[in-house]
Amino acid sequence: MTKPIVRFAPSPTGKLHVGNVRTALMNWLFAREAGGTMILRVDDTDLERSTKAYEQGLKDDLEWLGLTWDSTFNQSDRFDRYDAAAEKLREAGLLYACYETSEELDRQRKLARAQGKPPTYNRAGLSLTDAQKNDYRREGRLPHWRFKLSGNPVVWDDMVRGEQSIDTSSISDPVLIRADGTYLYTLPSVVDDIDEGITHIIRGEDHVTNSGAQIEILKALGGTPPQFAHTPLLVAADGSALSKRLGSLSMDELRTQGIEPMAICSLLGKIGTSDPVEARPDLDTLKSEFSFSKIGRAPARFSEDELALVNAKFLHDMPYAQAKPRLEALGIENGEDFWVLVRANLEKFNDSVGWATMFNAPMSGQIADEDFDFCTAAAAGLPDKITAETWSEWTGKLKEATGRKGKTLFMPLRLALTGRARGPAMDQVLVMLGSEKAKARLKGEVG
Ligand code: GLU
Repeated sequence: MTKPIVRFAPSPTGKLHVGNVRTALMNWLFAREAGGTMILRVDDTDLERSTKAYEQGLKDDLEWLGLTWDSTFNQSDRFDRYDAAAEKLREAGLLYACYETSEELDRQRKLARAQGKPPTYNRAGLSLTDAQKNDYRREGRLPHWRFKLSGNPVVWDDMVRGEQSIDTSSISDPVLIRADGTYLYTLPSVVDDIDEGITHIIRGEDHVTNSGAQIEILKALGGTPPQFAHTPLLVAADGSALSKRLGSLSMDELRTQGIEPMAICSLLGKIGTSDPVEARPDLDTLKSEFSFSKIGRAPARFSEDELALVNAKFLHDMPYAQAKPRLEALGIENGEDFWVLVRANLEKFNDSVGWATMFNAPMSGQIADEDFDFCTAAAAGLPDKITAETWSEWTGKLKEATGRKGKTLFMPLRLALTGRARGPAMDQVLVMLGSEKAKARLKGEVG
């Protein structure tokens, strides 16, 4: 197989969110696994809504996620190419001028529905005489331009959906150029896909009908249709639409919350597939496990709770070498033993600050009144030199001496030593605290 060339084509009209990141990820996983090329195409033909700030934001987000690209370009730099393609289609009689206003089109659609007919465009533009066109122009109406579909079925073998057939007689001839001369997304996308030699178009299944029209346009321009993979859309855990909540699911927002990029990629790479949803250590692992054949037809359910779980699990598995520079950046220099001990207690990486402070900073633990004597006695019984065995020997003696067992034995010690009801294994905590600190805290002093 020749090496794939794919493109991720976001519009810089908003922030990157879990929905479009999933599309970027699928492109990346597929292309990288096959040693192919990934192009970042900035779909900024909508000059009013596109901004450079959003464009920079989405590039920063992709970098943060590790979804690298080999080249990038902006559609707004390529209007001459789109003009040339439009001219070619006009000459072939496949791009025709239409003069209806949007109110007129609305009315026609309503009428068709009322008559039980499909609300597709009636193609009146195709049969206008030159005299009629001139009349419209004199009225001050400017044409918009539609592509003339063949009316035949367009068939392709989708890498996710299997055999697809779009009956082009059931869809309206798509408008490619608006009356103000601006391009809708359809034609520029096809022109770029041809010029860039795109071999695989991987995108959401909301584009399936588009693909029918785009394949016809592509062929009319002399291109060879690439392969398509249309992935099911993301929905919320309860099956409802995610669209309204996407703002709070932007990369920006998730980064601020302390979610790891690899947790996002793990979740988005696995939901809706036959693989288990679990934290993967890196993108290379994820890509070696990726296959379109694993993607099901049902919508993929996205849940923030599941993202939080995957995030935590990713941290619990994180090797020290990976954590070390990040710990140091947080001013934590407690070494590998510390990391291995506390990581299973983290939900977010920065939770490690709290644990480091617990070990490093002078503090007093929590001692309930009724446990005070017990803790004082425990302090007296604690040896000066603490080893990995100290905890079990020491608590064994305390058990014999006091008759306390289970929770009433262990919890007061944990609370006095760490100030928290939950945390890492106490035998290790005790080693890391050292005798002096531990004794002070057991006596209710700052240590
Ligand atoms: N800018 C388009 C979108 O975000 C690109 C779709 C495509 O991949 O062709 O929907």
